[in-house]
Amino acid sequence: MMARGGGGRGVRPVDEAAQRRQNAEAPTIPDLGRRVVTLFQPYRGRLLMTGILVIVGAALGVIPPLLVQRVFDDALFPHSGGPQLGLLVVLVVTMIGLYLLSSGLGVLQTWLTSTVGNSVTGDLRVRLFEHLQAMELGFFTRTKTGVIQSRLQNDVGGVSGVLTSTVTSILGNTVTVIASLVAMILLDWRLTLIAVCLMPILVLVQRRVGQVRARIAGQTQESLSELTAITQETLSVSGILLSKSFNRQRSESARYQAQNRTQIGLQVRQAMSGQGFFAVVSVLMSSIPAVIYLVAGFLVAGGTGTITAGAIVAFTTVQARLLMPLMGLMRVALDVQTSQALFARIFEYLDMVPQIQDAPDAQTAATAPGPRGLLEFRDVRFRYPDASPAARDTLQGISFTAEPGQHVAFVGPSGAGKTTILYLAPRLYEATGGAVMFDGADVRTLTQESIIDEIGIVSQETYLFHATIRENLVYAKPDATDAELVAACTAANIHHVIASFEQGYDTVVGERGYRLSGGEKQRIAIARVLLKDPPVLLLDEATSALDTVSERVVQEALDEAARGRTTLTIAHRLSTVIGADVIHVVQDGRIIESGTHAELLALGGLYADLAAQQVAAARIDTDVI
Ligand code: ATP
Repeated sequence: MMARGGGGRGVRPVDEAAQRRQNAEAPTIPDLGRRVVTLFQPYRGRLLMTGILVIVGAALGVIPPLLVQRVFDDALFPHSGGPQLGLLVVLVVTMIGLYLLSSGLGVLQTWLTSTVGNSVTGDLRVRLFEHLQAMELGFFTRTKTGVIQSRLQNDVGGVSGVLTSTVTSILGNTVTVIASLVAMILLDWRLTLIAVCLMPILVLVQRRVGQVRARIAGQTQESLSELTAITQETLSVSGILLSKSFNRQRSESARYQAQNRTQIGLQVRQAMSGQGFFAVVSVLMSSIPAVIYLVAGFLVAGGTGTITAGAIVAFTTVQARLLMPLMGLMRVALDVQTSQALFARIFEYLDMVPQIQDAPDAQTAATAPGPRGLLEFRDVRFRYPDASPAARDTLQGISFTAEPGQHVAFVGPSGAGKTTILYLAPRLYEATGGAVMFDGADVRTLTQESIIDEIGIVSQETYLFHATIRENLVYAKPDATDAELVAACTAANIHHVIASFEQGYDTVVGERGYRLSGGEKQRIAIARVLLKDPPVLLLDEATSALDTVSERVVQEALDEAARGRTTLTIAHRLSTVIGADVIHVVQDGRIIESGTHAELLALGGLYADLAAQQVAAARIDTDVI
């Protein structure tokens, strides 16, 4: 069948491979830092403005503590006389004015930062989404949907904070630290020396903590993507149907709980790594003023110099202001290190090269010379990229021609390679040998988009969005008029059903169209293809899941759809392909018989056997009835 799902699904213990991956390091991406910086390129102007605001704001913030010295030494307790009230008022008003100004600048700066940060995050998300859309079908059959969704949501979401706050945090905190240090040196260089002697040790410890955190972050994201994958698999319509029908909710819960426990453990480890370090830093920084009082006392007592009370108060005020920005810088350094793992995961996906790409000089299918809808397979060989080395090639030299307007059918045992043949026509997979020709041109020389434009696909597993019937239909042709919708649905034998719904074409169909019957969904899918109106139609077992009555209705719709188009049909029920111009019997990746129904019956080969079996089965059915 056409929509073969990706990844193992259903009931099993926590994926061992995923567990192994969780222990692995995050991918190594060279030039990671530079690549992250280039993400900001489109927002250079705003970033510059943010930088200026941050620097001005941070510098302004250091002035009030310096004024404290003047408040104490010149205004409150001058060397001679009583308090200087005039000077005191000027100093206090200046201090309040400066606080007001820095707060105002802070608001503006937050707005700029959050616009830039969120825009960069948004750009990254869209880039990843578009890149994933360009990946070949095989990537999606190999990778769990939840894992893909997790990179897009959890990983990109995870770096959003870093993208939003890092630049301002680094700039603002660095400026505050430098300005505070300058102010401290101006106040007393000896006390400054004592206050900063611990820094190098802190920096070294911080680096080590950062490395540990980065590793845990990679594991956390991997575990989160597993959790998302389980949710996506189990709580989807098909997943819940499967688990309910086998009464496996309890084991699914156990699987979820096990993964959840791993996730909790990792998150606690991530949160706790570095907390001890921060506690030590905090105690050290908070104790420095006490040490300063002590040293100042010894300095004054030893007669090594004079320090005014104002200078000591101002010094400890400035020094206390150093704590937050220093901690901020260390946190940011940790966050940046932690986010490396997430960025690496994002860039790893962005760096994946789609295996099927347009040639640089690719042509448009519709403008290629010759008739439209001519499909030709020339000795096509194919092997799935992830097939086991021992397995034979899935297609072992398939050759056939479907003339424009011809109806070509493929029948044969399950696993023979019929669906694979249909995959190769629209270049969803690339032939590994031979050539697939479309309108006389090798599909590898045509743009993928233009080939798909020429081909309509109806697969057994019909996919309808959780949206109105109208929205599902116009997906094929956004500018379709109501009259066109009705015409397509009438031809597909479904208009009368839609018209009987209270809300007609505006009826919302559930996720994957679950509120409609299988046959109704099929006919909507056929109407969708009719709206697209392509010269080539691929029908993969489009009626095999239906009962005889629905099959007849859908078959009529399909016959209508196939009129005037090159049609490739895969069928298990031979009754649906009796009228085909050519029927190819596929076995083990080869076409072993070809001809019309009558010719193949006369041949007395595999087709005749299949026909005899189906006639016998039909007779049993009739007998039972
Ligand atoms: P059916 O009638 O049961 O749908 P089919 O004739 O359409 O069968 P295909 O779906 O073309 O058969 O599959 C042909 C072979 O290729 C099978 O052995 C199948 O297991 C294998 N195969 C299909 N898809 C993949 C894949 N993504 N990766 C590896 N092998 C695959």
